[in-house]
Amino acid sequence: EVASSSPLLRNLNPEQLAAVTLPNTHALILAGAGSGKTRVLTTRIAWLLQTGQVSPGGILAVTFTNKAAKEMMVRLSSMLPVNVRGMWIGTFHGLCNRFLRAHYKLANLPSTFQILDTQDQLSAIKRLCKQFNIDDERFPPKQLMWFIAGCKEDGQRAKDVVVRDEETRKKAEIYALYEEQCQREGVVDFGELMLRSYELLRDNAPVREHYQRRFRHILIDEFQDTNKLQYAWIKMLAGQGDAAAAGTHAMPGGSVVAVGDDDQSIYAFRGARVGNMADFVREFDVQQQIKLERNYRSFGNILDSANELISHNSKRLGKNLRTEAGPGEPVRVFEATSDFAEAQWFVDEVRQLVRDGTERKEIALLYRSNAQSRVMETALFNNAIPYRVYGGLRFFERAEIKHALAYLRLMDNPHDDTSFMRIVNFPPRGIGMRSIEQLQDVARAAGCSLHDAVSAVSGKAGTNLGAFVAKLDVLREQTPGLSLREIIELVLQHSGLEEHYKLDKEGQDRLENLGELVNAAESFVSLEGFGRDAVALPIDELGVALRQSPASQGLDPSAPLGNELLPELLAPNQETGETLSPLAAFLTHAALESGDNQAQAGQDAVQLMTVHSSKGLEFDCVFISGLEDGIFPHENSLSDAGGIEEERRLMYVAITRARKRLYLTHSQTRMLHGQTRYNLKSRFFDELPEAALKWITPKNRGFAQAYGGNSGTWGASNSGAGGARGDWAAAAFASRKPVGETFANPVVPPQRNAPAHGLKTGMEVFHAKFGEGRVMMLEGSGDDARAQINFTRHGVKWLALSVAKLTVV
Ligand code: ATP
Ligand code: MG
Repeated sequence: EVASSSPLLRNLNPEQLAAVTLPNTHALILAGAGSGKTRVLTTRIAWLLQTGQVSPGGILAVTFTNKAAKEMMVRLSSMLPVNVRGMWIGTFHGLCNRFLRAHYKLANLPSTFQILDTQDQLSAIKRLCKQFNIDDERFPPKQLMWFIAGCKEDGQRAKDVVVRDEETRKKAEIYALYEEQCQREGVVDFGELMLRSYELLRDNAPVREHYQRRFRHILIDEFQDTNKLQYAWIKMLAGQGDAAAAGTHAMPGGSVVAVGDDDQSIYAFRGARVGNMADFVREFDVQQQIKLERNYRSFGNILDSANELISHNSKRLGKNLRTEAGPGEPVRVFEATSDFAEAQWFVDEVRQLVRDGTERKEIALLYRSNAQSRVMETALFNNAIPYRVYGGLRFFERAEIKHALAYLRLMDNPHDDTSFMRIVNFPPRGIGMRSIEQLQDVARAAGCSLHDAVSAVSGKAGTNLGAFVAKLDVLREQTPGLSLREIIELVLQHSGLEEHYKLDKEGQDRLENLGELVNAAESFVSLEGFGRDAVALPIDELGVALRQSPASQGLDPSAPLGNELLPELLAPNQETGETLSPLAAFLTHAALESGDNQAQAGQDAVQLMTVHSSKGLEFDCVFISGLEDGIFPHENSLSDAGGIEEERRLMYVAITRARKRLYLTHSQTRMLHGQTRYNLKSRFFDELPEAALKWITPKNRGFAQAYGGNSGTWGASNSGAGGARGDWAAAAFASRKPVGETFANPVVPPQRNAPAHGLKTGMEVFHAKFGEGRVMMLEGSGDDARAQINFTRHGVKWLALSVAKLTVV
C-alpha cells in the first residue's frame, strides 16, 4: 500500500503508526512523557498532506508555545515540500490573533488593534484604578488583573459575572470599565484574543460554518493544559459547540485529534482543566483512544525514577512507560552546604561535561521558581560559561524596548492611551503628574483619547502637552512611504530616546538593545523577499536576528517559497485582501513574542529555565536544583494534597526532560528573598527508587563534610564583597539587577551539636512563629533530625530540629 510504504512512517512503532494513520475520526492519544506524542502529531500532519487527504489550508494545529509551533513547521518542511504558511499552526493566542485580524470588523475591532502583554495590562488597570479612585489596598491591581483574566478564561464578560457579594460587584464594575477602556483604545489583552474569537464563532453562523468546513483536521498538543475557553473554542470549530448542541444547523466539522498526558498537567493555577480530556471523550463520542507506552527519550534509571515518583499521585488516568534503552547511568544526587556551593559545584560539573564532549545547549538547569536562577547565573557568569535564561526578562519586555514600541504604536494609533501614558514624559520633558491628571480629567469628561484631549488643556501644562503631541503628529506625517527600518530609526532619533540613553552613564546596554530592535524589524520584514534562499526566524529572545541557512536546517533549498516560520502576519487578509502595514504587523509580533515563555536556542549555551517552561523539551543532561521542601515542592503547596500532587507532576515533567544524565541537587541553606533559609531535602527524594540513585555526597551527612566547607568556595570572594559586586554590576549585565546582598551576607551555619530532641509522634508542641502543632513524623538523628509537624494555623511543615526551637506543651 502507498500509505504504509511511505518513508514518513518507517520508524514508528505499531501504536504510533496507528495514531498517525487514523482515519478521519476524533481521537485521544494519552501517553506519558517522551513517548512520541508530539512526533506523532507532526507526522500525522505530514501523512495527511502526503496522501492527499487534506490540503495545507485544511489543517489547524495548536501547540503550547511559539517555539513549539516553529519547530513543528521546521519539521514539516523537512518532511515535505509544503507551504507551511498556509497552515494554521500556532499557539491558541497566535491563532486567535490571526483569526481576529482576518475578521476585525466583525469582531468590532480596529484594523490596527494592538495586543497588551501582561505588563501593559497591569499598567492599564493601574491607570484605570487611579482614574476612578479605586482603593488599591482593597483591590490590588494585580488581583484585579487575575480576576479579569479568570473571568475571560471562563468565557464571562463583566455583565455575566454572578454577583454574590459587594466585593464581586465592585470587581465586575471595574472589569466593565476595563472593557470599555480597552475598546476605546483599540487594544486587546491575551484573554481577550481568545474570548473575542470564541464569541465571534459563537455569534456569527456564516463565519463559524466557513471554518468548520475548512478545518478538516484539528490537532492539539499538550491537551491536558487547555482551559475551559480553549476547549469551548475547539468544540465550536469542530462543530460540537453550543450552537450545534442547541440544534441550529451547524455544519459538521472536522476531526479532532488531541494528545496529552494527565501526569504532566501543571497549569491548574492558570485555569487548565485536566477534566477536558474526559469531557472530550464524552462530548465528541471518542471511539479511538490510543496509548503509547514506549519511551524513546530517556534511559531506564531516569524513567524508573519518573515512574516511581508519579505512582505516589492518586488521581491518575493510569498508563505505563517503558524503555528499551537499558538502565544507563544512575541518577546523581548532590547535597551542598549552601546555594553558593551548589552553584559552584554545578559550574564545575558543567565544565567537566563540556570537556567530555557534551554540547552546552544539551545541558539544562531547571528550577522551581525564577528567583533561584540568580545565584546560578552569577556563578556561570563569573566562570565565563555562556548561558541563556528562558523566560527571564524577555527582549520585548525591557523598558527601553517598551518605550520605543510605545512611540511606534502611537504612530499607528494615536488613541492608544497606554502607550501615550508610558512616554508622555519619557524622556523627561517637564510634564508633571498634575498636568497628566488634568489631561485625564478632560479626556474622561469628553470621552475621548488623551491625544485628542490635549487641545482642551490650558496653561503651561497645555503648552507642554501640545508640544509633545505636535511632535508625535509630525513624526506620524513623515512615516508614509518609509520602510519599517526607517520608521524605527526616525522615531528613535526624534523621540529623544537615543539622545537620552547616550547621556545616561549606564545607557550603553540600552542603546545596543535599541539597535537590536532595528535589526529585529529588518529581519522581520525581509521575510517577504527572503523565502527562496533562507529560512528566517523573525527574532530570537535576546533580539539577535537569526538567519539560518536552509542547509543548517536540513531543508531543501529548491523547495517552494513559503518556508518562512512567521505566522502570516504580512499576508493579505483572506477575506478582504487587506494587508497589515509592516509596522502594525511588527508590533503584533512583538506583543505575541513577549507573551511566550521560551527562547530559541541560538549560540551554544547552557539552558536555564523553570520547570514550567521546560515542558515538551529534552536535553542530554538535566540538573534539577533546589530540591528542598518549601522550594520544590513549593511552600504554597504543602498544606493541601492537591497542591502536592501538582508539584509532583511538575517534578515528573522535570525528570523526564533528561535523555542520558540526570542530576538532583539540594542545599542545606539558601538565601531567598533576603533571608537565609534552612531547608530539608525534598520529600520527593523519598519517592524515588533507591536502586536508580547514586549519592555523590553521603546521604544524610552533617554540615561539616558538605561540599566546600562551611561557607563554601564563595567564602573567599565574600570577604571582598565590595569588589566582587562592583565587577559584577559593571559587567555587561548592567540592565539586570545587580546581585546585591547575595554577596554581602555570608552563610551562617546553624548551631551544631544540637541536644537530643526527645520528641515523639503525637506530642503537642509550640513554635515561636508557627504556634501550636502536633508532631506527625520524626526522621534522622543528631544534626539531621527533623520533624513533620501539623500546625493548627500554618499547616504541615518539616522542621530541622537542630535549628527550630520547639517546646513541648
Ligand atoms: P513530552 O510528553 O515530553 O512532550 P512526547 O510524548 O511529545 O514527550 P516526543 O517529544 O514526541 O515525545 O518524543 C520524544 C523523543 O523520542 C524525541 O526525541 C523523538 O524524536 C523520539 N522518538 C519518538 N518516537 C520515536 C520512534 N518511533 N523512534 C525513534 N525515536 C522516537
Ligand atoms: Mg511533546
